[in-house]
Amino acid sequence: MEMSVGVVFLLFWTVRARRLLAAGLCLLAGLAAVSVCAVHSRAADSYIKYVEFNVPYAALHKAMEDDISCGGKVSWIDTLAYLAAKYGGEWGRYKAADMDAVLEKLHGGEDIAGLTRGMKYFPYFREAYGAVLGGLLGDYVQELPGEEGEEPAWTARYGLRAYSPVAEGYYYNDFDDFGASRSYGFARQHMGHDLMGSVGTPIVAVETGTVEVMGWNQYGGWRIGIRSLDQKRYWYYAHLRKDHPFQEGLREGDRVTAGQVIGYLGQTGYSSKENVNGIETPHLHYGLELVFDEKQKESNNEIWVDLYALTRLLSEHRSTVYREGKEYYRMYDMIWCGTE
Ligand SMILES: [Zn+2]
Repeated sequence: MEMSVGVVFLLFWTVRARRLLAAGLCLLAGLAAVSVCAVHSRAADSYIKYVEFNVPYAALHKAMEDDISCGGKVSWIDTLAYLAAKYGGEWGRYKAADMDAVLEKLHGGEDIAGLTRGMKYFPYFREAYGAVLGGLLGDYVQELPGEEGEEPAWTARYGLRAYSPVAEGYYYNDFDDFGASRSYGFARQHMGHDLMGSVGTPIVAVETGTVEVMGWNQYGGWRIGIRSLDQKRYWYYAHLRKDHPFQEGLREGDRVTAGQVIGYLGQTGYSSKENVNGIETPHLHYGLELVFDEKQKESNNEIWVDLYALTRLLSEHRSTVYREGKEYYRMYDMIWCGTE
C-alpha cells in the first residue's frame, strides 16, 4: 500500500502526540517513573548464577494485589523475597497467614530493611525475584474505549502492565512442564513453558523491550527473543507460524511495547531446514532467561525459570486485538511511564 508523504507525516505526528500525551499524563498523575533499581557494587564475578522461581500462584497473586492496592508503597518483590528467605526457598511451606503477618508489619510502618536484618538469604531472593518480576508492575498510561462516537480516552494507572503472551479471546491450555525431558537433537530439559493453542493465534509481547533475535533456529523454528529495558529478562517465543511467523515489518533492534502483537502461534522447528513444521502439536513455547551478567546469556549456565505460575497471573491481563488484512494489531495502546 502506498501512502502519501502527507499521510506518513500525519501518522508520525499522531504517534508523537500520543507519546507526549502519555509523558504528560504520567507526570500529571504524579506517577513519574521512579527507578527502583538499587545500584549494587560488588566483585566482578559475584553475580547470581542460579535461580529457581517456584513461587506459587496464590502467593504471587496475593502479594501483587497488595502492592497494587497501596500504589507500590509495599513492593510485592520485597514481600515475596521476605517469605522466600523465611522458608529457605521451600514454597511448599507457604501459608497465606504468613504473608498477612509480614504485610501487617510493612503497612504498619516497619521497613523491609529493618524487618530482614539478619536474614541471610533475603538479599539473594530480593535480587533474584527482582530480576524475574521487575517492571511487570508499574506506572503506565492506558488507552481506553471512548464513549459512543468519541475518540479513545487515556488514563494513568499503576498496576500489572505486563500481558499474557496470548491475545484476548484466544483459547490455550497448559500445565507445569518446566524441566520435562526433551529428546530432539540431544537429551535435555524443557527450559520454558508450552501453551497449546491453534495455529495463527496472535502472540503479544509480555513486556516492553527490544527485539534482540528474530529468525530461524533448528530447535525453536521461527522464534523471536525480546530483551527487557533493564536488560535482565530475555523473553523467548518459539515455533511461530510457518510462512507468516512474525508481525509484518518487525525487525531486530525494534522497540516493542507490552501487549503489542509480535507474531503468530504455529508448529515450526525441530528441523535444520527453514520454515518447516516439525512440531506435532501447535503451541507457543515461551521462555524467560535471566541475565545478571552478559556472559550468562549464551552459555552452559543459562538461567531459565518456570513460567507456569506467572503465566496464570498474566492470563488475567490480555491484549485485545483486531484484524486488518493478514495482520492482527492491538486495539488499545499502552505506554509504560518512563520508557518514552
Ligand atoms: Zn516448549
